[in-house]
Amino acid sequence: MKKTKKGKNIAVVLAAGTGSRMKSDVAKQFMMLADKPLICYALQTMENSSLIGDVFLVTGEDDMERMRVDIVVKYGFQKVRAIIPGGSERCYSVANAMSWLSSIAEEDANSGDIVLIHDGARPFVTEEILERTIAAAKEHGACVAAMPSKDTVKIVDEEGFAVTTPDRKTVWAVQTPQVFQKELIVDAYRKFRNDEDKSFATDDASIVERYSDCKVKMVEGAYTNMKVTTPEDMVIAEALLKIKKS
Ligand code: C5P
Repeated sequence: MKKTKKGKNIAVVLAAGTGSRMKSDVAKQFMMLADKPLICYALQTMENSSLIGDVFLVTGEDDMERMRVDIVVKYGFQKVRAIIPGGSERCYSVANAMSWLSSIAEEDANSGDIVLIHDGARPFVTEEILERTIAAAKEHGACVAAMPSKDTVKIVDEEGFAVTTPDRKTVWAVQTPQVFQKELIVDAYRKFRNDEDKSFATDDASIVERYSDCKVKMVEGAYTNMKVTTPEDMVIAEALLKIKKS
């Protein structure tokens, strides 16, 4: 197995979702955004970044060969060290990747101390966001890219009635990358795997919050660091790309 470059940070890029909200026959990660499949954008940012060493790409079990041939080989992503089969939900996909990382760490002492977890469905992550989040993870142990909520948020009861309205200054919409010291995130996911209650796990930070004392730092992402989820998001992403290119 190829050895990791010493001291480089690890990126886990997630592309094992079924993309059911996209209402398309083609899995979301393979859908064309302008001239390239959606997954290529996040992978290219990782490929270009001097901060990232190895990339672990997580995809559906049935898509692993297609991901290798049609994406990694075709577009020449040299940093992709392994393509890992995902799980039925995002948290299981990350848990699989964390098992891989811990097995590699045993054979490869230089496998890097910082793990950055990124949704492959967020094509517009930037080098500056990687810089900010990696620096914060080094300082605080755990951080997530996020932005203050533009909308007022309501906490509602089961019948859909508003219960409280949190002060908007305290409400942040969470994005990825979510970045952690490796031991912390690998250990948190190990505990998560053994826990019967998995309902709380909506992001990686929630797993660290549950199983460690480490406080998760919010770091500025970008409003353009959107997640492509629905067909309308594809239209917005195309428009953002045009602005970037002009
Ligand atoms: O489904 P959602 O849009 O929230 O997924 C966020 C990211 O997590 C996407 O990049 C998606 O491919 C990934 N994911 C995954 N495994 C799953 C579900 C989602 O890797 N089972």
